[in-house]
Amino acid sequence: MSNHFDIIIVGGGPAGLTAAVYARRANKSVLLLERSSMGGQIATSPRVDNFPAAAGLSGAELSDRLYAQAEELGARIELEEALEIRSGDIKTVITDYSTYTAKAIILATGMNHRTLGLPGEDTLSGISYCAVCDGAFYENKHVAVCGGGNSAVQEALFLCEICAHVTLIHRRSEFRADPILVDKVFAKSNITVLTDTVVEELESKDDALCGLRLVNKVTGSVTSMPIDGLFEAVGHIPETALAAKLGITEENQFVHADESCKTTAEGIFVAGDCREKKVRQMLTACADGAIAALAACDYCG
Ligand code: NAP
Repeated sequence: MSNHFDIIIVGGGPAGLTAAVYARRANKSVLLLERSSMGGQIATSPRVDNFPAAAGLSGAELSDRLYAQAEELGARIELEEALEIRSGDIKTVITDYSTYTAKAIILATGMNHRTLGLPGEDTLSGISYCAVCDGAFYENKHVAVCGGGNSAVQEALFLCEICAHVTLIHRRSEFRADPILVDKVFAKSNITVLTDTVVEELESKDDALCGLRLVNKVTGSVTSMPIDGLFEAVGHIPETALAAKLGITEENQFVHADESCKTTAEGIFVAGDCREKKVRQMLTACADGAIAALAACDYCG
């Protein structure tokens, strides 16, 4: 099997998988590399209601469909981590298992979850970043969700069906999440919303989280809340270490590209949430994937 391709796509989220679909439909040979699991951030979304013509599907269902589409069209898909990219007329991608070459590269490496930066966050049990993955561990228990965006609100809505009680903690009084979702949260009898509140300390017993020390930013009052689990949903940071080594990241760590998703490095394109842009949704990630793939196909000739 040849290790040379027209296009190598790094990242198996909606942007990368869509790029694979478009590039295969243009008859280019395609390798897609994904280091962990397919679907990126959307794979753990309990319900995606704003993807046109597919409302109500889970993120996992949507990404499974995209994966199947890319595979059926003949994209080669490998679960390998791209460790280094060497530029040139022919680019080289070194992974943890192999070395591949291609004429063009599409970076679709997405974002990673942000943390609160509190002592114990990395080591204590009882802290999660994914309600779909870990929610079942907290059946009939009291959990907190931290954050005020769509992820936090969706996690709270998902967890309130499993847990006895959910406390949603947000640092401001206004939510960033879509109002339609925020209204649903306020309508749930087993969700308590604490606004203007920050988690100041993780309280623990025997290496397990057992409570949160909370500070109300308006009144200054400090309270201790016993808790069985904390779900952090405080946003994401771009996963752009590979791009940084190529010198194509901005100060904010995102990759700058023109309208056709072309970066300043020749033959290297960027798609999805790691691209510098304003709107980061599954739809815009897919749109980027299509645009980057068509531009990469043009570049390949
Ligand atoms: P987000 O929209 O960036 O929200 C992050 C939230 O975390 C914000 O409310 C932010 O507070 C808070 N936050 C950040 N740092 C914090 C800290 N150190 N301590 C406490 N709170 C902190 O992130 P997201 O919710 O993960 O969503 C990312 C993107 O995906 C968004 O565009 C979102 O719309 C999209 N998304 C869509 C769906 C869907 O179904 N349509 C589902 C999930 C995500 P501030 O508001 O004060 O900044």
